[in-house]
Amino acid sequence: MLKLAVLPGAICGGCDVALASLGERLADLLRYYEIVYWPTVVDRKLTDFLKLSSIDVLVHMGGISTEEEAKLAREVSSRARVKVSLGSCSVYGGIPGLNSLYKPIEVYEAIASQVDVRSKNSDLELPRPIEYSAYTDIVEPDVLAPGCPPGSIVLDQLFDLLLKYAETGRLEPRILLLGDPESLCNKCPRNPKTTKITMPGIRRIFEVKLDDNKCFLEQGVLCMGPATRAICDHSCIKANYPCTGCGGPIEWGVDSGLSHMSSVASALMVDREKSVLEAGLARELDKIRDVTGIFYRYTLRKSLTYKLRKLRVGE
Ligand code: SF4
Ligand code: SF4
Ligand code: SF4
Repeated sequence: MLKLAVLPGAICGGCDVALASLGERLADLLRYYEIVYWPTVVDRKLTDFLKLSSIDVLVHMGGISTEEEAKLAREVSSRARVKVSLGSCSVYGGIPGLNSLYKPIEVYEAIASQVDVRSKNSDLELPRPIEYSAYTDIVEPDVLAPGCPPGSIVLDQLFDLLLKYAETGRLEPRILLLGDPESLCNKCPRNPKTTKITMPGIRRIFEVKLDDNKCFLEQGVLCMGPATRAICDHSCIKANYPCTGCGGPIEWGVDSGLSHMSSVASALMVDREKSVLEAGLARELDKIRDVTGIFYRYTLRKSLTYKLRKLRVGE
């Protein structure tokens, strides 16, 4: 039997639930794998798990927010033959990556001001955060499985890959980004009739009476589909909500926020550019609230903007 471990870093629990929801398919894996660690599913102490000198597959969920998480992730990864980074926090930093806008001490103080861990019989303290990072910032994984949480396409591909690895002992190519290598727009049930999208302006979702069959961007509502890798079955879009980009960029290493800004810039009022002029376009763009949260909700930690800021302030 091969040894499989699932290690949580800083997680919300969504990735855990998504993986556990594989249900019977997960049971199929047990024909080949023994789960040697997965706190949600298997009753095994961390100290016992750490006595193992090697494991075959490590699935790491979540980002890294404390020194303890970083140490554990490095230590366990060094013993794993195949390392899987699961979920957008692990791969791209995810939503907690927005922490990167602040210093760790500011994050700590904001949390500490809202929670009280003291009790009569305990001297518990909040863990001290370090500068938040993605798992991929501290370890080079073999498989990248994005999504918040990973969707059906990614989980099916991961499952097939683990079975294939168990049967052949091989994993090719070495670094594998799961999901389909195309934008979410390509097979979108609301795919616009023309390849050129025209945005009538910028609208917030509650400002529009949405046409369920029409592309969100064509109704003025920001949708990250053009810059997002196809990792799901258009789950949000089918629920009448625009894609917020949890699948990350179409290709590894690309800045999805910049790609999406560029899609919006080239679609915004293209039919009226000459009449609204630059000032009219600027007025529309000013309507975008929380630019970072919209364009970099899951990927700020990996963005060029973040890297440039680090260079500029010399952190
Ligand atoms: S990727 Fe999303 S679901 Fe997974 S741990 Fe992060 S926030 Fe939670
Ligand atoms: S922008 Fe969104 S709604 Fe429009 S085609 Fe792309 S994914 Fe679909
Ligand atoms: S539609 Fe977009 S935000 Fe929603 S699950 Fe798919 S990739 Fe993620």
